[in-house]
Amino acid sequence: MDDNWEPVFDIDATGLPAVPPGISREAHIAQMDWEKLTAEARQCTACELCATRTQVVFGVGNRQAEWLVIGEAPGADEDRQGEPFVGRAGQLLNPMLLAIGLQREHVYIANILKCRPPENREPAPAEAMKCRPFLERQITLIQPRIILAVGRIAAQNLLETNTPIGKLRGRVHHFGPARIPLVVTYHPAYLLRSPREKRKAWDDLRLARRTLAAESPDPTRRPVDS
Ligand code: SF4
Repeated sequence: MDDNWEPVFDIDATGLPAVPPGISREAHIAQMDWEKLTAEARQCTACELCATRTQVVFGVGNRQAEWLVIGEAPGADEDRQGEPFVGRAGQLLNPMLLAIGLQREHVYIANILKCRPPENREPAPAEAMKCRPFLERQITLIQPRIILAVGRIAAQNLLETNTPIGKLRGRVHHFGPARIPLVVTYHPAYLLRSPREKRKAWDDLRLARRTLAAESPDPTRRPVDS
């Protein structure tokens, strides 16, 4: 067989490769590169949120980041601008990251859901399940050294638990087969409503920073994707 052989997939009405026969949607997404993954997400209709979104909010940042920040879902500002954490909550996330020496463009930021739930309601479990392959592929491609799960929804989805966030924060969890260290903290939107909890969020950020510092650095990473 030709070493350069690649399977030829059917092209659907959107001009994008359709899921080839005999392979699940999850497996199909799990083999995509960044370009295909972005295109697939941008035209996704796997759950009903496609009908009400302005646009898909895929994720933003350094694709070789050591830090991966994962939130809940786009809000109104994110839906309008196409970027996660750009509203009031985002304006608090940025200084939180800066407090531990991270500029926003040095991390990668994504959400459990890529489309905005109407009225900012919580993601339905079925929606999170449908969207999960995109996030899992992003995690595999980025290979972050640490994940910061921001807010209850992100933490419970990533850790597949119903445990309250107060019991999830304050310790180091691990995500996936690669056992990526995962630290839980409060969502900036919650901190805006409950500023007294900022001290706990600061403790969480320092825990994450300490956890990363305890591991040996990867010399192959670039600080900012070009
Ligand atoms: S939320 Fe995720 S699964 Fe649902 S339509 Fe958007 S990209 Fe697809």
